[in-house]
Amino acid sequence: MKIEYHTHTWHLKNFAQHGSISYQRGLRCNCGYARYDDNMTFDIVGYANTDYGYMAIFECKKCFEKYKHHMSRNKRSEEEFKDNVANMLFNQYRKLTK
Ligand SMILES: [Zn+2]
Repeated sequence: MKIEYHTHTWHLKNFAQHGSISYQRGLRCNCGYARYDDNMTFDIVGYANTDYGYMAIFECKKCFEKYKHHMSRNKRSEEEFKDNVANMLFNQYRKLTK
């Protein structure tokens, strides 16, 4: 999946075999490090088109455990999903290059 934000482009890997990846309502890694409200604690490494709509695949930067998480209110909207992923990726990029 191609994600674009102004002049930036990211290519997200499709995790077709996402069944073994954990889902948590409020994303927080079991190791205690990565959490959804701190986007510098994880990487977005891909996406999955699940029975429950589009989900992003997050990877904890500390223990490398993967989780899947909805990024949009309308779970079926590919456009909203892409917009939200793009915003998060751009925020990460901006913080890393500061
Ligand atoms: Zn972790």
